[in-house]
Amino acid sequence: MIYLDHNATTPLDPRVLEVMLPYLGERWGNPSSPHRFGQEVRLAVEEARGRLARLLGCQAREVVFCASGTEADNLALRGVAAALRSRGRHVVTSAIEHHAVLGTCRALEADGFRVTYLPVSREGVVDVEGLAGSLGPETILVSVMHANNETGVIQPIPEIAALTRDRGIVLHTDAVQTTGKLPVRLGELGADLVTLSAHKLYGPKGAAALVVRVGTPLRPVTTGGSQELGLRAGTENVAGIVGLVEAVALSLEEAEAEGRRIAALRDRLEAEVVSAIRDVRINGAGVPRVPNTTNLTFAGVDGESVVLGLDLRGICVSTGSACATGEPEPSHVLLAMGLTAHEAQGAVRLSLGRSTRPEDVGVVVEALAETVERLRRVSSLAQPAEASARSGGMKG
Ligand code: PLP
Repeated sequence: MIYLDHNATTPLDPRVLEVMLPYLGERWGNPSSPHRFGQEVRLAVEEARGRLARLLGCQAREVVFCASGTEADNLALRGVAAALRSRGRHVVTSAIEHHAVLGTCRALEADGFRVTYLPVSREGVVDVEGLAGSLGPETILVSVMHANNETGVIQPIPEIAALTRDRGIVLHTDAVQTTGKLPVRLGELGADLVTLSAHKLYGPKGAAALVVRVGTPLRPVTTGGSQELGLRAGTENVAGIVGLVEAVALSLEEAEAEGRRIAALRDRLEAEVVSAIRDVRINGAGVPRVPNTTNLTFAGVDGESVVLGLDLRGICVSTGSACATGEPEPSHVLLAMGLTAHEAQGAVRLSLGRSTRPEDVGVVVEALAETVERLRRVSSLAQPAEASARSGGMKG
């Protein structure tokens, strides 16, 4: 199998599993218990919090562990909205956010907030000037992702932070697709709230964090115990937390060298695809992207059919957001970039990772070329029959 769907999820690094195992076995105490069995695991959680803070360049008290990136996004948006609703009811986001943010924005709209969905350029970059123009006295929150999960395009978060900081507006960025892929420090990003998720960086599923910079107004959105500095009620997933932090440490250690290796493979893959297959568009080419992602549109074919065709050959790719699979609609990200619905249906996302080897490139390009050519042949055979059927030529 060649797995090129690392933006959907990654395998658990055996080194991460190793540090998790004691907390799935003999160290099963509740970190809120006052006895030594509980306090032993409390120590593990607090050590993990301190280590993550050092890795990211923030304070330990700014780290809130959550159960998923989706939950962290919800806490960021709903939490700021709840804290600041008396000050203003305008939220700004982009049209290309993950559903975890977009769905939450829709919920806020239903709750009386006004949301601006910023457009992006043809390359998939949020328009910073447009963003500046959209901010007003009612604006309390801006949420723009650090890199898009479908195209890998990196957004200008430091520039956006300069705008929000001046105006006292809270900035959230969903860094689920960049943590561990880019060697960034939070201070350089300038966001007040940052989401990350373990399973995108060779950590376990069901473990994530929201970094909440000191002074950021945020209300909890779950009611219950006072865990996680009172911001996220619920008994901590100790093994998940320990695994998340180990995964971040390993990914950051390897980010620079691995990023260079993967970017070279991705660039070679793109060059070979373009020379082997006609009418291909690389979505997001020409602007900064995370090193592992390429999003390709093949004119005249359906991306879902390409995914299935490659699957038959043991190659795992995606049409875009894993969460959108099963939805018949074309990608909202590609539509926002100005592709037609037809073009967006022809998109395939390949996201490389640690298991990707140089020899995989040729195998994947050949499989893609054959699959796309076969699909184009089939659709050109089908078209005259369809046209004839539409004109009434195929009755009975
Ligand atoms: N944000 C982005 C950009 C993502 O790519 C994903 C997952 O696909 C999420 C949020 C959701 O993270 P989780 O799967 O941990 O809920």
